Amino acid sequence: MGRKIAVVGGGAAGMMAAIQSARAGAQVTIYERNDRVGRKLLSTGNGKCNFSNEMMGSDYYFGSGKALIDTIYRDFGVNETKDFFSSLGMRIKDRNGYLYPASEQASTVLDVLRYELERLQVIIHTNQQVDSIVRERKLLFVETREHKKEKYDAVILACGGKAAPKTGSDGSGFKLAKKLGHGVVPTVPALAALRCKEDFFKRVAGVRCDAQLTLRVDGQPVRFERGELQWTDYGISGIPVFQLSRDAAYALRDGKNVAVEINLMPDYEQNAEDEVYVCSGESKYERFWADRWIRQSNQTMERFVTGIVNKKIGLLLLKVAGIKETDKANLVPESSRKKLEQLFRSFTVTVGEINSYEQAQVCAGGIDCMEVSHELESRFIPGVFFAGEILDIDGICGGYNLQWAWSSGSVAGRAAASGEKGMVSA
Ligand SMILES: Cc1cc2nc3c(=O)[nH]c(=O)nc-3n(C[C@H](O)[C@H](O)[C@H](O)COP(=O)(O)OP(=O)(O)OC[C@H]3O[C@@H](n4cnc5c(N)ncnc54)[C@H](O)[C@@H]3O)c2cc1C
Repeated sequence: MGRKIAVVGGGAAGMMAAIQSARAGAQVTIYERNDRVGRKLLSTGNGKCNFSNEMMGSDYYFGSGKALIDTIYRDFGVNETKDFFSSLGMRIKDRNGYLYPASEQASTVLDVLRYELERLQVIIHTNQQVDSIVRERKLLFVETREHKKEKYDAVILACGGKAAPKTGSDGSGFKLAKKLGHGVVPTVPALAALRCKEDFFKRVAGVRCDAQLTLRVDGQPVRFERGELQWTDYGISGIPVFQLSRDAAYALRDGKNVAVEINLMPDYEQNAEDEVYVCSGESKYERFWADRWIRQSNQTMERFVTGIVNKKIGLLLLKVAGIKETDKANLVPESSRKKLEQLFRSFTVTVGEINSYEQAQVCAGGIDCMEVSHELESRFIPGVFFAGEILDIDGICGGYNLQWAWSSGSVAGRAAASGEKGMVSA
């Protein structure tokens, strides 16, 4: 008879852990507080589920577990993930390295996992919230709010973090881990939009444009991202903003000043092709403006800015520079011209807060990875394992967080089923 394993949380990591444990011969039970497993999975990748990425490695991750990534991915990485889903009958679509189910339906990923859980006869207790895990002698007791108490050889905590709590991950896993003596690295929402202090955002809400972003903390540049910036009525959003958001959230938490500098004309940055301008003492950017002030000298400033970037943004920058739309270009004083030119390449917005966990895609922070082995077993309570977002590891946008769920679930699931003491590294 195989070992008895409980998996707390039926998300991506929990389902993978359950499958790998059951494949290794364990008798597995999933406890899920929702009325069904995999609810969050359905909303991933805008309903298409970007489940992994061909460009993988620890560089794309943050947190105390960053050093674990490469070891764990050597055991179960992108290739193993692709083989795993292919073997369950799911065709895969590769969009520039971003991996999706070919059906473009997140429900496909959930369906194939559910069918495999069923084939392996994994027991699924839905509407069961686990409230405590107690170790007595060599056994672990799992107790639910609904007064179920069962004993197991090993327990895998895969409760997620605090992001998107409507999908079930309400942070209760952290409480369970704390009761077991584990430390939790302070959490913040990540992969979320940034709410800014300026009052002009309603004028530009809905605009999307290419931009180079620099996150500044107490004035110092700490992170750079390029991509499609989305302006909202409260601040800035879009993938490049999501990628900056984790650092912004921790800096705000520490009471630091957080700002994002926006370059709206990133293609005009100096590079080798600009040599001709550099030689003549003028950059490509300076040449662009010098030409424009000459060619459009008889235009009103509304017409002058039309066509440089999105018009709403152009008009906003005019206002910020203190130039009227009706002013004639040739009458704009030199100091105002320079100010406007500067704003197009360096427009700074002040961040007041990050969007809440409700709107965030992940939760940064979590169980301190210094307290787990390479098999993701607790260093304090033998037989307790962790998988997924509950651990202090978070990745950038692009399939990295689900890959962590698959890889950590797989490693924890197999190790829990094996039960060999030697499996746990010092
Ligand atoms: C809108 C959105 C889009 C996303 N898109 C992508 C994407 O395209 N690609 C990508 O890589 N990542 C994406 N992510 C992130 C990714 O979905 C998560 O990192 C991943 O699902 C985490 O998996 P998990 O199993 O660790 O946690 P979760 O998926 O949060 O699952 C945890 C489960 O545990 C249950 N649970 C919690 N506490 C208890 C308890 N005490 N007792 C019983 N059950 C409990 C919860 O109900 C939940 O079902 C997205 C996230 C969101 C919110």
